[in-house]
Amino acid sequence: MKIKTGLMSASLLLFLSSFLLAQPENIDLGMIYKIKQEGTRNSKIEELAFGLTDLSGPRLTGSTGGANGNEWAKKKMEELGFQNVRIDEARDNSRGGWDNLKTYAAMIAPYYVNFACNPVAWTGSTKGSVKSEVVLMDVSTEADLEKYNGKLNGKIVLMPSTTAYEVSFEPLASRLSDEELKQLSMAPQARQGRPAMMGNPNFMAQRALRMKISEFLKDQGAAIILNNSGTFNVPRSNGGNYVAGTSEPVAELNIPIEDAGRMERLIRHNIPVQMEVEIQNRFFASPKIYNVTGEIPGTDKLLKNEVVLLGAHIDSWNGGTGAADNASGCIVMMEALRILKSLNVAPRRTIRVALWGGEEQGLNGSRGYVEKYLGDPETKAHKPDYDKFAAYFNMDNGSGKYRGIYLQENDIVRPIFEQWLKPFADMGASTIANRTTGGTDHLSFDAVGLPGFQFIQDEIEYGRGYHTVMDTYERLVMADLRQNAIITASFAYNAAMRDSKLPGKPVIQSLAGQQERRP
Ligand SMILES: [Zn+2]
Repeated sequence: MKIKTGLMSASLLLFLSSFLLAQPENIDLGMIYKIKQEGTRNSKIEELAFGLTDLSGPRLTGSTGGANGNEWAKKKMEELGFQNVRIDEARDNSRGGWDNLKTYAAMIAPYYVNFACNPVAWTGSTKGSVKSEVVLMDVSTEADLEKYNGKLNGKIVLMPSTTAYEVSFEPLASRLSDEELKQLSMAPQARQGRPAMMGNPNFMAQRALRMKISEFLKDQGAAIILNNSGTFNVPRSNGGNYVAGTSEPVAELNIPIEDAGRMERLIRHNIPVQMEVEIQNRFFASPKIYNVTGEIPGTDKLLKNEVVLLGAHIDSWNGGTGAADNASGCIVMMEALRILKSLNVAPRRTIRVALWGGEEQGLNGSRGYVEKYLGDPETKAHKPDYDKFAAYFNMDNGSGKYRGIYLQENDIVRPIFEQWLKPFADMGASTIANRTTGGTDHLSFDAVGLPGFQFIQDEIEYGRGYHTVMDTYERLVMADLRQNAIITASFAYNAAMRDSKLPGKPVIQSLAGQQERRP
């Protein structure tokens, strides 16, 4: 209870001080007009989207496609006239490089049908084409493994379904309603920032059991492990717990719930099921995770070394081409800087774009950048660039248009952002939510006390599509992305031109260590 009282008086104090200090922002409406015109009439969103999705391919961390995406982004940034463009080492890549070279899977008995499927990243290959019996692995505790001892050599192992398919009466795509936006701005705990995927309370226990099962299957000489795609009817991509240099895990495939369900029901009816599967994966040395950065240098004698940073993660999973997650964020940030560049702006501060690597395995790119240039999240020790850091803006919630911004509890910037968002009220982007939102790269900056923000976006198809084989160019809503680039460009410009940097959250001594810890 004591802590709670402390929190309340602290937030009251923050509210009062922000109220008293609220200043009119000096917004260049002429520049906002130009940004809107350039971003609407001369948009390069489609071209950027093609380059990063269809042309580069899947951009799994450390993969050949990942390297292709980085090279494409670097070349494109140079073409667009960005300066100091580079592919910058961020962190070690503990998993190393992995490419899928071939995947084929079909049921061949009791009759033939081929399956859409996606190999689990960082799992191994089959020994050529494998034709074998499918064994249903009915295991709910470690002790259940014993009944399969000696029976799995060369077999294809199907993990039973843990989720039942349920008919959905939700629309395929949706925008935030006025009521939802109001809730978002009023009630900090009313809504999760990301689609809730991990609602299962037994998640950790199941994961531990799965690791035990994996070891067992490897010891037993199983040829392939098959997983279903949960409640989604297309394969979802994910990655094994592989560490570079250790022995290759058993080949593993994610198949649609319908295909897994059909085979499971046949087997439970004692009808033998056989499959033909061939998977070829390549493991290779890929020791580092990289970020791609480029900028428009600042021009003010005193402020040019201060940095306004725009970011999104460039890595994706291996199934689709990571379009909504998160080529969309990357191309919006690149397009925002392109708009400013083509308007020949002379920002007082430097405006930099950073495309982060390795986000999907734990925000590696942005964390690496923060550790290298800004500060240590553990000791809180500052690096030289810390005091020159003006603001960070992130996009990573799919292809939907901006509806406002999360303050990440930094209520002090509310009066500033209210004014910055005003010119975009007719685009539907006026909601300010004080609450925190998680799951992506702004957290790396927030963790060292720097002002980092993520925009509120319409969900569109994000929840059912991200990390799946259908996260491709088709998922991108170009009109929405155009608007996002316009708003991002104007936020970047405002942040680069105002007299002082955006305020970070004040450190409250009695809450030392608690402020950055988020649920
Ligand atoms: Zn993402």
